[in-house]
Amino acid sequence: MIIDGKRLANNIMQDLKTQIEKEKAKPGLAFILIGEDPASETYVRMKKKACENHGFVSHIIKLTEKVSENDLLAKIEEVNKDSSIHGLLVQQPIPKHISTTKVMHAVAPSKDVDGFHPMNMGKLLLGEDDGFFPCTPFGITKLFDHEKIETASKHVVIIGRSNIVGKPLAALLMQKKSYGNATVTVVHRGTKNIKSICKTADILVAAIGKPHFVTKDFVKDGAVVIDVGINRVKSDGKVKVVGDVDFSSVEASVSKITPVPGGVGPMTIAMLLYNTYKSFKCS
Ligand code: NAD
Repeated sequence: MIIDGKRLANNIMQDLKTQIEKEKAKPGLAFILIGEDPASETYVRMKKKACENHGFVSHIIKLTEKVSENDLLAKIEEVNKDSSIHGLLVQQPIPKHISTTKVMHAVAPSKDVDGFHPMNMGKLLLGEDDGFFPCTPFGITKLFDHEKIETASKHVVIIGRSNIVGKPLAALLMQKKSYGNATVTVVHRGTKNIKSICKTADILVAAIGKPHFVTKDFVKDGAVVIDVGINRVKSDGKVKVVGDVDFSSVEASVSKITPVPGGVGPMTIAMLLYNTYKSFKCS
């Protein structure tokens, strides 16, 4: 019943490692990390470790919180031109004095392994597979495939419309592809009757950033529940990571569910490496 994202992610990364061992050169991935945000530092550290363990060369470019927009854009351009680097990720959030849009546009589409550049988002929407899909939604489609969770003709409800999860996942799942053919509803802050809409979902995806938001009364009996949320909460004086789904409240009603941690999170990292290897092979 519990979908083991950690195991599938490890299998995918192990396969990549085996492929890379046969190559003469190594795929390179650069991270631009701005400021001292502890969560961003943790994410980048985890991604770097995954690179090191699976044959990728990684570089962390640390910039201060006060870096100017021009200096950041110049650094991105430098990495764009570096032929030893096949993927570039600018860790979000980006300081408020810098335009996130300008940064997303500045990363070369051919190195945009996060899949956030308008060129890659456009390709996703058009059903073209030769760009890069954003890692979290891409990882969710891989989980469906591995777990033999049929999406065709199913009603998928996604809670959250962010550019990095909700919107691209909706676009992927509605494509006329093996990973798509679903009927997709996206609910968000502007939606009325969220609970009753969620209750009609065959597959419910929570991507909101609110701890334990989804409870039993959101979930139809036998539904599949995908929990994207990563929320740090204090419990008994310790910081714990919990999802957007109240696992203990819904587990009796679901047919399958992703845990937090160990569900979608590891798949996001695996797909980042997958995209970087794809970029390396196309370079
Ligand atoms: P975001 O803040 O950009 O977007 C949140 C969305 O949720 C918004 O569209 C908003 O309308 C909606 N929302 C918020 N409160 C709501 C409410 N009360 N009712 C209805 N809709 C509501 O967030 P994001 O970047 O998409 O991330 C969402 C969560 O997923 C966060 O916890 C984040 O840490 C996590 N995340 C996890 C991974 C992973 O690899 N597992 C990757 C990306 C994000």
